[in-house]
Amino acid sequence: MRDCIVVGAGAAGMSAALTLARARRTVLVIDAGKQSNLAAPAIGGLLGHDGRPPAEFYAAGRAELMSYPSVELCVGELAHGECDDDGTFAVTVADGRREEARSMVLAPGVDYRYPRLPGMDERWGKSVFHCPFCHGWEVRNRRMGVLAGGAVGVHGALNLRAWSDRITLLTNGTELTDRQREQLAVGGVGLDERMISGFEGPGGELRAAVFVDGGELSIGALLVKSTLRQRSSLAHDLGASLTEPDEMLSVEAIKVDPMCRTGVPGLYAAGDAATSVPPSMAAAMASGYLAGAAAAVQLTAGY
Ligand SMILES: Cc1cc2nc3c(=O)[nH]c(=O)nc-3n(C[C@H](O)[C@H](O)[C@H](O)COP(=O)(O)OP(=O)(O)OC[C@H]3O[C@@H](n4cnc5c(N)ncnc54)[C@H](O)[C@@H]3O)c2cc1C
Repeated sequence: MRDCIVVGAGAAGMSAALTLARARRTVLVIDAGKQSNLAAPAIGGLLGHDGRPPAEFYAAGRAELMSYPSVELCVGELAHGECDDDGTFAVTVADGRREEARSMVLAPGVDYRYPRLPGMDERWGKSVFHCPFCHGWEVRNRRMGVLAGGAVGVHGALNLRAWSDRITLLTNGTELTDRQREQLAVGGVGLDERMISGFEGPGGELRAAVFVDGGELSIGALLVKSTLRQRSSLAHDLGASLTEPDEMLSVEAIKVDPMCRTGVPGLYAAGDAATSVPPSMAAAMASGYLAGAAAAVQLTAGY
């Protein structure tokens, strides 16, 4: 029996596995290889790795992990996990092997959802993005759009003024209140409420938002409101609880305490899947470290 099974080898899972390995624990890491920022050309805002291509970062992380003999990395998607009455976790990996462990860290990331208007998918992580702190620097000073309605849209548009003074909120047909219109006007943010038919531009670049009425708005970048949802029912199946998404951040996160404990003995969660603050690589790595440390302490000290 292993000490820990870690689900996911993104920033959070690898950080947890590294911490456990350094505490001389045996770890099986299971990973489907779909880290959420792979669509982006570079990581923004991660100290020591700013501007580094995500794939290069993950390859470096895997190489570090593989230098610890107590770590095994298994490629594949885990469909199901069990927690037995005696607190043992059991999974069946891609080649059919059954693996057991005394603890488990869930770090499977999340599904970032956004309105799938034509022209958005191919620009996702490049000129269309969910987080200005990750991507704003690269598109600074361009004319930009914000695609969102209500208070979230107003907040996003006002905040984006840190990166450009030419911001337009695109509501795609949803109505704003008089108060929200006033906030935009006072803040110097444009407003376009027309229905959008899609986004155009060469390659991953953005040239314009195109409206159903045939009109266009020239923009070079688009911030889009995303909602974060669990990628599978794994956490729920293992007995963990999920948070209710709120309007502003709209994340459905695995509930954890400050040491990433889920409330199910021996089960920890880290990274995007367990965050109720805006997601980032830095936060994912930090929580992965805490989850790994908490699991290691429990394995050694029994609490
Ligand atoms: C397009 C985009 C660009 C971003 N850019 C930045 C940026 O520039 N700077 C920044 O700080 N943040 C950025 N972020 C946010 C950042 O990428 C995430 O916060 C971070 O990657 C979360 O790490 P994680 O380890 O929790 O999840 P992930 O990186 O998503 O890794 C989870 C891993 O678990 C695997 N997995 C999931 N379910 C299973 C399963 N059942 N079995 C096996 N494996 C499974 C997945 O395939 C994946 O490999 C960006 C996000 C997106 C969507």
